[in-house]
Order: sequence, then structure tokens, then C-alpha cells
Amino acid sequence: MVLAATSTSQKTNLKGESSKLPEFPATNRKKNVPEGLWSKCLSCSHVVYTKALKENLSVCPKCNYHFVIGARERLEQLLDPNTFKELDTHLMTKDPLGFKGAKSYLEKVKQDQKKTGLEEAAVTGEGNCEGRKIAFGVTDSRFIMGSMGSVVGEKITRLIEYAYERKLPLVIVSGSGGGARMYEGALSLMQMAKTSAALARFSKNSLPYISVLTHPTMGGVMASFASLGDFIVAEPKALIGFAGPRVIEQTIRQKLPQDFQTSEFLLEHGLIDLVVNRKDLKQMIAQLLAYCGPARRTRQAGS
Ligand SMILES: [Zn+2]
Repeated sequence: MVLAATSTSQKTNLKGESSKLPEFPATNRKKNVPEGLWSKCLSCSHVVYTKALKENLSVCPKCNYHFVIGARERLEQLLDPNTFKELDTHLMTKDPLGFKGAKSYLEKVKQDQKKTGLEEAAVTGEGNCEGRKIAFGVTDSRFIMGSMGSVVGEKITRLIEYAYERKLPLVIVSGSGGGARMYEGALSLMQMAKTSAALARFSKNSLPYISVLTHPTMGGVMASFASLGDFIVAEPKALIGFAGPRVIEQTIRQKLPQDFQTSEFLLEHGLIDLVVNRKDLKQMIAQLLAYCGPARRTRQAGS
């Protein structure tokens, strides 16, 4: 999450009167320091130039905290430039239950579409990773927490089927704090079975499925396609699990270990295979694909 380092100074008190910070008028300050120029690390509070942070793949240069990034940024980081062809962009979310809340479901969808520039929480397609053609999907935790509604489930399922039919290796990067999407009730839960069944079929091709878990991957997403990878790779210190720690503590009435549900804890306990820094992720995916897949190179020189 990018924070504007200049936006916190209080200009007026609760009664609307001027506060005691007159030396830099807000208008000048805004002019001189554009919003979002600096970002603050959510882990160590180190303030870093946003451009430098992006160049460092949105990882804090001081403490290695991995910032949450969007689906498009992830695509750029993991796929070769200009190789991505997006699939199923026509699938649109409906409101099958007529969900009522503070905001209607479709209002919430519209709001997050505007915020993220995405149609839905999943982006799927095919592209090249270090010269090797793959089927690639990513969920974006900024879009209704990356939760799996019917469209996300359908897009992931179609991607798996696409990979199966074309005999492509499959890579899905999950960032889903929301799990199943409550706005769609049982229809959302069904996506767990649907994606899992598609993966069972995909496995008949003996091609690899690499599941990459990023902060956060929880609930119905973790309980379906995210945990079914032939290789399960996670970014450092990602929150990964099914129910949240507070719910578990209240249920079992025991204190949980401090690093419970982190990538490192799950690596130690055998649920995941590798914890990989973001800067090494693309190379690691390419290496795993090279170990398993046939030599299906689309480009030869230097790849
Ligand atoms: Zn930091």
C-alpha cells in the first residue's frame, strides 16, 4: 500500500479552526510534493522514494517487506514484456442474490473497478516466462479482497482448461484475503469444487502447476486451487491460511505461535515448498518449469 508522506499534517481542528501549523501553507506543500511521491514501509516505517520502491519491485530496501502489488504489476514482473494475451475479459459480475448491505454488491464491484482499473479480481491469459509459454493467472487482493466469486472462479477454471487443452504449464499467483465471496453465497463456494476438479483433469497431462502464494492468501482460495500446486511457492512473510488467527484462537481457546500462518511457518511444517524473494521469483518459476516441462521454447537466443 502506498502512503502519501505529505498527507498527514492536520490543517484544521475539529471545530474547523486553523491549527498551529502555519509555516507551510497546504496549497504550496501540495504543489511542491506530489501525492504518492514517497511511500512508507508498513513494517519498518522507512520512507522511500516511490519510484525507487517500484524499481525494487515494491520491496522495502531496508527490511525486505513485500508490499502488496496489483495484478498488472505482477504480470509485468513475472512475464516477458509484451507477451501477455488476456483471456475471458468479457465475463462480467452479476448480483444473483440481490445482496443488500451498506453498499449493494454491484456498487462495491464498480467502486473497486474504478480503484484498480480491473474488471474483476482475477486476470488470466497466456504469456512467456523467460521464453517459455505458460498459462498465467493472478488474483488481486485490492479488488474485494481478491475474493473468489463466480467470475473469478470461472476465469481460473477456464484458464486451467485452456492450459490442459493446449498442453501448457500453469502458473497462478494468488493474493486473496477474502476467500470465497460472501456476496454470492453458495455460488461462490461452488467455485472451490469447480477449480479443484479442473486441476484434477489438468494433472493428467503431467505438466506442472506452480501455485504462488502472496500476502494474503486465505479462506476458500487457499482451500482450493491455491493449495493444489505441484509446487507451492510463497513470498516471504505472507499471511497464508484458512480461517483467521483470531477465529482459531477463539475456537480452540489456545494462544497461537507468533509466526503462525506465515510463509516461513508453513514451509517449516511442510505445507509449502519454497519461500522466494520477489526479485528471484521469475527466475525460480522459469527454473521449476525447465525442470519439469518439455523444452517448449518460443524464443531461442538468450532465453
Ligand atoms: Zn521496511
